[in-house]
Amino acid sequence: MTERTCAACDCRIEGPGIEVTVGGKAVEVCCDDCARALNEAHAPGPGMQRADGMRALDG
Ligand SMILES: [Zn+2]
Repeated sequence: MTERTCAACDCRIEGPGIEVTVGGKAVEVCCDDCARALNEAHAPGPGMQRADGMRALDG
């Protein structure tokens, strides 16, 4: 048996999880809320300006 954890909140997934694809990688989450949270975190949108600022800090 493989232990699976939610990619969004890190809690253990019991029973059927929800598979979502983020950045071309398939991950599993525990609930629909976590799936949406992951999708929104990686979706291009109004947050792009903030992502650009983070990149500036990184470099
Ligand atoms: Zn979760």
